[in-house]
Amino acid sequence: MSATRDEILRALEAVTLPDGKTLPASGRLTDIVVKDGKAIFAIVIDPSEVNALEGARASAEAIVKRLPGVTGALVGLTADRPQGAPKPAAPAPTPLRSGPKIEAPATSKLAGVPGVKHIIAVASGKGGVGKSTTSCNLALGLAALGLKVGILDADIYGPSQPKLFGLRGKPTVTADRKLQPLERYGVKVMSIGFLVDEETAMIWRGPMVMSALTQMLREVAWGDLDVMVVDMPPGTGDAQLTMAQQTPLAGAVVVSTPQDLALLDARRGVAMFRKVNVPVLGIIENMANFCCPNCGHVSPIFGHGGARAEAEKTGVPFLGEIPLHMDIRATSDEGRPVVATAPEGPHSRAYLAIARKVWETLESGSAAKPAPKIVIE
Ligand code: ADP
Repeated sequence: MSATRDEILRALEAVTLPDGKTLPASGRLTDIVVKDGKAIFAIVIDPSEVNALEGARASAEAIVKRLPGVTGALVGLTADRPQGAPKPAAPAPTPLRSGPKIEAPATSKLAGVPGVKHIIAVASGKGGVGKSTTSCNLALGLAALGLKVGILDADIYGPSQPKLFGLRGKPTVTADRKLQPLERYGVKVMSIGFLVDEETAMIWRGPMVMSALTQMLREVAWGDLDVMVVDMPPGTGDAQLTMAQQTPLAGAVVVSTPQDLALLDARRGVAMFRKVNVPVLGIIENMANFCCPNCGHVSPIFGHGGARAEAEKTGVPFLGEIPLHMDIRATSDEGRPVVATAPEGPHSRAYLAIARKVWETLESGSAAKPAPKIVIE
């Protein structure tokens, strides 16, 4: 028989938070869901408390996993407060002083993933701009440079990487109880799409998203990687912001189409990463030109060039453009991505050039750091 919610709450009394309160008494627990013996819940935090409360999260998960009748536990930290939940105590304000103060941008203090050299996010201000297709081909481009590459499909609401890589099946569990990523075209792939069916993935709620990302980051046998590409969920809402903040990112790439609306969204994407002090490696213009598959004629149907101008305006590098072409869509749908299956073609060359720029920036450590913030107190 599964453990009940009350039994789990009783067990969680053994977890004490830095303020001395036990986890159940802290008012920070979201609803505890028990399904088929698996317990799922999250601890509500202020984004600044991630490091302070990671230990409590891990203990809570370990304690619940050991309860009789529990087959698994998924415990996350979330800044996505459920309605009615109390706001966690904000960190003490700094005393008032006169005069402006230069605040250095905080660098990521999150623990990295052992064996993984650089983690980069691929994001977009909205859905449908080709973020997943770009993540997949960028990962393949990095692998074509001879690098060890993994891709983490964090687009939990609509995982596309299984289809893009033509992968099916469930990851196996290793002896040390980690999930073994699937592998194709020399790239290791982990996606929630391997674990739950598509419709279940669509109804994931905010707190669960962070738990799933944490597990896919830390409880997967990634091995040694030069680069891990994280395909983020589209948009710049709270869930994306929390993910950007809680993942030890070396940098982020923003994908945009040339339309004005998408560019506005891209600007929001750049602003989101700047807010959490993640360097923006650059903007990619996807579907830049329409290239006719019959005659090869190129038409700038969306008014091409906007992303380059936008990149210049916002002071982030322009990484390159990818044309709108039938072959890119068709190969993606068939699970035969263009960089893997037509490596000498013009589209692959475009992705490869971008991959090279991304890798050079990562290795040189010259990713544009956010400018220091001037705070008037
Ligand atoms: P997102 O992840 O931003 O929602 P997808 O990568 O799923 O977007 O792409 C949306 C659709 O556009 C898919 O059908 C994909 O095959 C297609 N697509 C993406 N980039 C291109 C491109 N450069 N040329 C043609 N089709 C593309």
